Amino acid sequence: MDEHYAENGNADNVIELGSPAGRGTSWSDLPPREIAPEDWRRFRTYMTEIFGAFGMELDLPGARDTPERYLQALYDATAGYEGEPKLLTAFPAEGRGVESATSQIIEGPIAFQSLCEHHALPFHGFAHIGYIAGDQIIGISKLTRLVRLFARRFTVQERLGEQIADALVELVSPQGVAVHLEASHLCTQMRGVEEHSRTITTFWRGTFADPELRREFLHEVRSHGRR
Ligand code: ZN
Repeated sequence: MDEHYAENGNADNVIELGSPAGRGTSWSDLPPREIAPEDWRRFRTYMTEIFGAFGMELDLPGARDTPERYLQALYDATAGYEGEPKLLTAFPAEGRGVESATSQIIEGPIAFQSLCEHHALPFHGFAHIGYIAGDQIIGISKLTRLVRLFARRFTVQERLGEQIADALVELVSPQGVAVHLEASHLCTQMRGVEEHSRTITTFWRGTFADPELRREFLHEVRSHGRR
């Protein structure tokens, strides 16, 4: 297997933590998308035309409703544009008061599926998230929601990791955050460009400027292995 390490995980790329921003703003509390019925019908016509031209046998029973199903699947797979208010409201129940202020909390692997904005084809893999808590912690189910919120969009792996890290900073004001993403990109695999490659990216915030903390985090992530 080839491994591609993106260049954004280096020591000179640590972003200092500022004061935590207000909650419930740009990324968590978004309005639902509204597609007018006449637009949806038009999109379905386009998809029928495209699938037909590319060779799909639209008369087959299995394919007859594929344009509609495809649009619906794509719509569902991009639900991250509608935010995730639950990430904010459920917080106080997660608990306060962390005993050891310097030990890492590491969660993962968290499976995710996303669509690359270059080809609108899936990339999918696993996220590991580490943080040094301030006075709040966040459960694995919330972290999973957080990952999915940003994964269910047209995006790139680099932005996905940045957004997860920044949102976690906003949510729990930790001392430091580490995000590790490992993914396979179908846009390269399906077209035979790099059939077995996977892309690994890491993102660091705050106290993860410390190489020792990074080593500890990466060691833990690797020991979790891949499912
Ligand atoms: Zn792509």
